Amino acid sequence: MSESKERNERHKKAMQRKKEYIDGRIAEATIDKGLMVVLTGNGKGKSSSAFGMLARSVGHGLHCGVVQFIKGQWECGEQMLFQENPLVEFHVMNTGFTWETQDREKDIEAAVSTWGKAETLLKNEDVEVVVLDELTYMLTYGYLDKERVLNALENRPSQQHVIVTGRSASKELIEIADTVTELGESKHAFYDGVKVQKGIDY
Ligand code: ATP
Ligand code: MG
Repeated sequence: MSESKERNERHKKAMQRKKEYIDGRIAEATIDKGLMVVLTGNGKGKSSSAFGMLARSVGHGLHCGVVQFIKGQWECGEQMLFQENPLVEFHVMNTGFTWETQDREKDIEAAVSTWGKAETLLKNEDVEVVVLDELTYMLTYGYLDKERVLNALENRPSQQHVIVTGRSASKELIEIADTVTELGESKHAFYDGVKVQKGIDY
């Protein structure tokens, strides 16, 4: 057998084994349920991944809700794209990062009132996908009652998907989630003095 033929044969056998394994795993996955996805870690890509799933969901005609717990300095492209979409109910907390407001009382008030919007979505069976962007900070700063948040997440409709983003997700959030991705930072242009770029960063 020529060298390339032998290599093709080996490749074919390896791919057959892989296919058997993957087909087996697919056949074993029979559960259909609303997922809780947590995207955390210091690397870039948490919110954009959540909005990627929102885009997929809207593409499939699913009813979605978004609550952003931090209003960035720049209005993000996703808000411009989705807020007028009849499939998406979009809420943004009306304060910026805590180091900008520097007013704990005001931040708590805004967080609690914004959480009310999230709770309404998490009770509504007609809402199929909920994105809670930057929610983790509301818990790490102690702006929202942890039990209240966990309770609403755990008691949401059984088929509703929820996606939570933000750095330093608490162990309780990770525990109740089905899928958790911790994005690691290998490099970020910011540290080379590059300012935020439209389309990439917001
Ligand atoms: P993205 O919205 O791009 O998916 P993210 O949600 O993972 O990012 P956040 O912590 O919410 O990241 O930060 C939001 C903004 O800060 C974005 O403009 C992003 O590019 C920038 N950013 C993300 N990670 C870092 C980092 N490690 N250092 C500096 N800036 C960052
Ligand atoms: Mg983010």
